Order: sequence, then structure tokens, then C-alpha cells
Amino acid sequence: MYQDKTELLLLPKQCSFRAENKPCNYSPSEIISVITEGGEYMVGVICSQHKSLIRERMEQHQAKGQIPGGKIRFQDIKMVTTNCMKVY
Ligand SMILES: [Zn+2]
Repeated sequence: MYQDKTELLLLPKQCSFRAENKPCNYSPSEIISVITEGGEYMVGVICSQHKSLIRERMEQHQAKGQIPGGKIRFQDIKMVTTNCMKVY
């Protein structure tokens, strides 16, 4: 069941968090991005369960240089996809 392209292309339907290669099956509620001097990078989407965990993990990635350094921002998905009908 694939509906409209634009929003679904941008937003994965599952939480980006992985624990020991087990994907999270919760639906994401927030978008994570990093605000750098060069712009804002979207990193993934996260469910409310994993928000604090992913923040820690991202800070570790930033320390190792795996993702750009900068301020980590969480943004409510509902504010981005206003006309998205959720069926769960
Ligand atoms: Zn999750």
C-alpha cells in the first residue's frame, strides 16, 4: 500500500534506532537532524521510546566523527506531515 510519494520518500516508516541489529518496530514520532554550520542534516526518525537513547548514541557518533558535529534537533513529525493519515 503505497500512497503519495513526497512525504513517504523523505520519512522512513520505522524508528531508525537499532539495538543489536534488531530494528525497532514502533512508528516514529520525531525527526532527528543535526544543525551544523553548513546546514541541517536529517539523520533519521525516532519513536518516543528511543529518543533519549538515540541522543546519546548520536553524541557518541559525533565524538567519533561519524556524523557531522552540531546541535541535535528533534522535530515532531506531525508538524511536517500535516495531511498524513496514520493507520495503526
Ligand atoms: Zn524506536
